[in-house]
Amino acid sequence: MNKRKIYLDYAATTSVDPLVFKAMLPYFREKYGNPGSLHKFGQEAIAALDKAREIIAKSIGANFNEIIFTGSATEASNLALRGIIKTLRIFDAGKIGKNQKYLIQNPRIIISAIEHESILETAKDLEQDGIEVIFIPVNKEGVVDLREIKKSLNDQTVLISVMYANNEIGVIEPISEIAKIISEFKKNKKQIYPLFHTDAVQAFQFLDCNVNNLGVDLMTLSAHKIYGPKGVGLLYAKGLKPLSNELARKGILFNNSFLKPIITGGGQEFGFRSGTENIPLIVGFARAIQLVGQKKLKELKRMRKIKDFFYKELRKAFSDVQIFNCYNTLPNIISVYFPGFSAQDVLIKLDQEGIEVSSGSACLMRAATKSHVLGALGFKNERILGNVRFSFGRYTKKDDIKELIKRLKKVLFN
Ligand code: PLP
Repeated sequence: MNKRKIYLDYAATTSVDPLVFKAMLPYFREKYGNPGSLHKFGQEAIAALDKAREIIAKSIGANFNEIIFTGSATEASNLALRGIIKTLRIFDAGKIGKNQKYLIQNPRIIISAIEHESILETAKDLEQDGIEVIFIPVNKEGVVDLREIKKSLNDQTVLISVMYANNEIGVIEPISEIAKIISEFKKNKKQIYPLFHTDAVQAFQFLDCNVNNLGVDLMTLSAHKIYGPKGVGLLYAKGLKPLSNELARKGILFNNSFLKPIITGGGQEFGFRSGTENIPLIVGFARAIQLVGQKKLKELKRMRKIKDFFYKELRKAFSDVQIFNCYNTLPNIISVYFPGFSAQDVLIKLDQEGIEVSSGSACLMRAATKSHVLGALGFKNERILGNVRFSFGRYTKKDDIKELIKRLKKVLFN
């Protein structure tokens, strides 16, 4: 097939920016030292790791030791949820391993009903272990119900996790408003819990992710959605006190930390995530964050224009098309339903025409399960199974949209 390929699945993943690739390259072959080694080679790796951490911390308004690198955003969110729950077991001094007791008797976690699987499945797994999980509904525009959040807070609530922007429908959640509700609750109750976590994986490219402006205690990011490499993510954790390597190795925690590692070993990442740091990927992550930061506002405006154009052209071409487009969504994600067509139909036909889109979440496609996000919006089965997600990115031009409409007409009208 000699048709120009058009990739419109940027919310699933992005290609590595050439400048990111260039920054990473030396760390694969020339500077391949282990940051745990004492020799010069190791020191070179530590310097690269420190610099990457510094760049990233600065870009989100965090401190150096508040950034924990992980193998993915999924792992970072697992660390947030599981790591907090693990600290609830305190040890009696002198009787380590025995007499474990809970500071909080009935721990509660609150999450939104439209979280990514990395949060949703982790919360469900913790539920199996006896943790109470409250799922906060969303309105028909996909926005979490703030009154329900308020109502669900109790003195056993240890964590609230609400994503900044959704990967399937692009809806942006009111993170700083939720932060205010939580901080008010904590002030009144004079307690340190609940902590507030947000998954900002999709939001980072376009929205303000300064943790102080957002008012979050924990935040998850991923490199491969922002033109960085796959296989690296991070967890920001506010005011984290590094564990000593020795104690971390034994899995023993200082009582003053609210997080416990879920991967133990050599004590890397201040004791919170053992395993030799992947320097090339981490360096690439930092470079990707720098580059996205430089272009954020400009890209936001450009992407909005592309989305508006697509919206209008789509309406013109297909009179019965249903578009999920509440005003508060990311500028690059648009969820569409062509009545009478299943998502699979549209996806396969478009793929044959050289256009790559998806039905929602990348994981869902493979598992062929029904989207919990669209379910939470109250969509009927037919609408859920017919949902097509178009997601635009740095290389999407107006011409691509014109071409998309042309090919859509061809596959849907023929
Ligand atoms: N959170 C959101 C909102 C996502 O869209 C994704 C990726 O699909 C993830 C988390 C998981 O990211 P990673 O692939 O780095 O684990």
